[in-house]
Amino acid sequence: MIQPIIDEKTVCELERLVTQARHIVITCHLSPDGDALGSTLGLCQVLRKMGKDAHVVVPDQVPRSLTFLPNFKSVVVYTLHAGRSVALVKNADLIFCLDFNVLKRIDSLGSVIAQARAPKVLIDHHLAPDDIFDVSISFPELSSTCELVYRVLLQLNLTHMIDVPAAQCLYVGMMTDTGNFTYSSDYPEIYEIVAALVPRNINKEWLYNMTMNTFSANSLRLQGYALSQKMQLFADKGVALIILTRNELEHYGYHKGDTEGLVNKPLAIPGVQCSIFMREDEAHIKVSCRSQGTLSVNELCSRYFNGGGHRNAAGGEFNGTIDEALDVFYQILEEFNFNNK
Ligand code: 5GP
Ligand code: MN
Repeated sequence: MIQPIIDEKTVCELERLVTQARHIVITCHLSPDGDALGSTLGLCQVLRKMGKDAHVVVPDQVPRSLTFLPNFKSVVVYTLHAGRSVALVKNADLIFCLDFNVLKRIDSLGSVIAQARAPKVLIDHHLAPDDIFDVSISFPELSSTCELVYRVLLQLNLTHMIDVPAAQCLYVGMMTDTGNFTYSSDYPEIYEIVAALVPRNINKEWLYNMTMNTFSANSLRLQGYALSQKMQLFADKGVALIILTRNELEHYGYHKGDTEGLVNKPLAIPGVQCSIFMREDEAHIKVSCRSQGTLSVNELCSRYFNGGGHRNAAGGEFNGTIDEALDVFYQILEEFNFNNK
């Protein structure tokens, strides 16, 4: 049995807000991933089914691998349609903030949301959320925001409103944020939720192939190049580093999403417990970190890269050159306690 985890008072307040709202905006973090987009689209689908005028507004473009998600075409991208995004946020009488903990994580859309008159509801599983939300539903110990959205719907007695597209969206976030149910999923209730979604004919094999097993030829070549030519191993610390420069990305015709999953690969090498990937994007160097066991890359990313995330999967940004980022990396190798088991 899936136990209720959200307290009664919060559930009642949320129920009141949803009942009263007509125009609802749902947003998520920058560079939306499977959990961010799955949770926003899944919740949006349910709210629309309830007769609400609900819209997903995301801070920037979505990787191509997620554009197959049901109702993706209805998503409003702030960096492409700022006017429409602002109008929707201003007109909203309820705003859901999904899969991020601080407004900084949604870039310039953050100030638009901060100024909005509508009450703001946080549904998230990152540590240390901002206290600017009117209702805060934060459970860092859970696999994904999609799992939490399901639990919210369960406690609102709304699971009968989860149709096939909504179930597919929610399943995708649970699948991607756990590496297809590998990490962050060592507790029975997550499978009870999967067991509730699967009978809705979600076609989990298709969802897996579309989300986690679809790459362009360029993307596979880029990842092959990164692993064969750019992976450095620091065996004494159990650390792997991959850096891809702008030139290298351009050489392989890089599109957003093409390096998805690359940072996980070095963890397959016995002894590697921390993998760091730096990608020279246009505005900054994007840093992604993964770890195994109790080693916290969330701590590493918040300390050195102005970022955050979860214990075993975190990210951040570095403003500077590749050489400067490398200096920081060597500083991390010296200072950071990679044995904090
Ligand atoms: P990824 O490495 O796949 O981009 O992100 C892994 C995890 O770290 C995700 O949970 C994501 O929300 C978090 N994350 C990634 N980049 C940042 C960042 O710049 N700041 C913060 N606070 N979290 C990030
Ligand atoms: Mn997530």
